Amino acid sequence: MDEPRHVPLPLKYRPMTFDDVVGQEHVVRTLRHAIESDRIANAYLFIGPRGIGKTTLSRIFAKALNCTSPNGVEPCGKCQNCTEIAAGRSLDVTELDAASHNKVEDVKPIIDAVQFKPTSSKYRIFIIDECHMLSNAAWNALLKTLEEPPSWVRFIFATTEGDKVLATIISRCQRFDLRRIQTHDIVSRLKHVCEREGIDAEEDALLAIARGAEGGMRDALSSLDQLVAFKGERVSEEDALGVFGLVSRSSLESLAGAILRGDVAGILKAIEAFDSAGKNMRRLSGELLHHFRNLVVLQALGPDARSIAATPDQIKTLAEQARGIDPGRVFRICDQLAEMEDKLRYVLSVRTLIEMSLIRASRLATTATIDELLRALKGMRDQPEVAAPVPDTVVSAPVQAPAPEPAHAPAPSRAEILNDPKLNDVLASMPGAIITDIRGGK
Ligand SMILES: [Zn+2]
Repeated sequence: MDEPRHVPLPLKYRPMTFDDVVGQEHVVRTLRHAIESDRIANAYLFIGPRGIGKTTLSRIFAKALNCTSPNGVEPCGKCQNCTEIAAGRSLDVTELDAASHNKVEDVKPIIDAVQFKPTSSKYRIFIIDECHMLSNAAWNALLKTLEEPPSWVRFIFATTEGDKVLATIISRCQRFDLRRIQTHDIVSRLKHVCEREGIDAEEDALLAIARGAEGGMRDALSSLDQLVAFKGERVSEEDALGVFGLVSRSSLESLAGAILRGDVAGILKAIEAFDSAGKNMRRLSGELLHHFRNLVVLQALGPDARSIAATPDQIKTLAEQARGIDPGRVFRICDQLAEMEDKLRYVLSVRTLIEMSLIRASRLATTATIDELLRALKGMRDQPEVAAPVPDTVVSAPVQAPAPEPAHAPAPSRAEILNDPKLNDVLASMPGAIITDIRGGK
């Protein structure tokens, strides 16, 4: 007998039921409810980046609608309708890829088929992928059917570019925006797959794959497949990083640490190392911005915030880094990094731009913000006779946002701060701080 052919992991682990779908709970909940309450809209529109499951979800929905022996709202996957839809052979479910079939002639068969009742199922379903590619003439031809479809017809549109779909179409559809899948959700799915497949992979390796896939489960699974094909069933972080040109989690975190400490030499050495190892510098910039964005979220909402998409190890490091720095400074670093991201699209000398931007970010990390100065000044005013030392804001600034000034004491103006006789004492008490906000313009 022949050896069983290798089934690619994205295909083998493609979700078959609503329960299997990862990271799109908001969409799945509504679709299930629609089936339960038998309130199926005429047309659905799924919008979202590639590889996050739009087509898969369309097929699961089509199966759920036409399954002859569903388990609750889940398609059984075994009846004739389910198996034919899965194999793309169902006479009642037509898929059209509008990326390559976008003309009036391409939608004509759909318009003709609409009038016939389904052969063996409840609904005649049309799934139109990359629907933003349909020509205006093709849309116009479809529009009338879309307005008043026969009771047995349902449309499912999917697209990566929702803003290119005409408003007249969107208004006739129930619209769902699918999300990029969170990194930790991808990591836990990859873990499950590795267990089932007997693949021995480090957690940081799976994290690297998930980072490289940028929210797409299909890409993550096919990268894992490739790595196993090249390296065998032991996957290390280094292998995974190599595929995507990513830097390791620990190097990224220590670069962030160097920025926070104002360690210019450390920054330059790290960039030199990444560049000569052929790392993807644009990705590095995006990931660094994401790291600092996580710091902002952690400082504002605490380490349990759902919007921090990070593994427990990452959160531990983030919490340590967040403790050491004033939120105002982190926020300004984010601004600086966002500006760098923006400029990266145009510059040729990527490395130079990153070096200069990160050095500037490191200066922001060690520059007192006006808020900090105000707090320090206020502290001195409140205790005029005692020469109390102002806490060293560079190392131990409180993580919480500053308490609002009481209403009867309005914040001093810039001129008042400049003329305050205590300003020099305040400045002197902030060792290492570069005061540029107040005295030297920006
Ligand atoms: Zn079925």
